[in-house]
Amino acid sequence: MSDLHELFLAELADVYGAEKQLLKALPKMAKAANSSELQEALSSHFSETEEQVERIEQVFEALGKPAKAKRCKAMEGLLAEGKEILEEWKDSAALDAALISAAQKVEHYEIASYGCLCTWAELLGNNEVLDLLKQTMNEEERADKKLTDIAESSSNTEAEEGQDVEPQKRAKLRNRSSRPVRLGSKRGAEKSPMNPNIR
Ligand code: FE
Ligand code: FE
Ligand code: ZN
Ligand code: FE
Repeated sequence: MSDLHELFLAELADVYGAEKQLLKALPKMAKAANSSELQEALSSHFSETEEQVERIEQVFEALGKPAKAKRCKAMEGLLAEGKEILEEWKDSAALDAALISAAQKVEHYEIASYGCLCTWAELLGNNEVLDLLKQTMNEEERADKKLTDIAESSSNTEAEEGQDVEPQKRAKLRNRSSRPVRLGSKRGAEKSPMNPNIR
């Protein structure tokens, strides 16, 4: 077995782990989303991800190897950050825009992984495996594109306008990002990023 073949199997085990890890997170992300459009997009990518897991198992089978997952540290990190983002923005009109950015980082990671796997399958001359991987690659690219469409058609504008959040909550969110202002101190007030025009 060539080194490329070994490398292919190692990367396949990694992406197999990554997809399985993602399966646990996607329903939580879908449930948290504000818009039904984003909920729909994340739920339907969950179903696709289930099929992608099966497709990887078919690739292992085609290569006569047992399906073996490796814990993907990159996906672990992306999902940990996604969870943090969800908690941080849950009461904000920017939640969907934040969720989309987290989800797109996941999709881009997957696209990079499947891109390499497709190239290597081609070099190894395995067309059956290449076809399976290409199907998944196309799904990942479509999922990424759909997220861009949702962001551009609604989520980014909602974040910008701060819609759907009560004024009180919005004030709280704003204050969170500003440095503490020392009341009665001119220097403190001048330094506050929330008061750029203060005299
Ligand atoms: Fe994945
Ligand atoms: Fe995937
Ligand atoms: Zn990985
Ligand atoms: Fe995906």
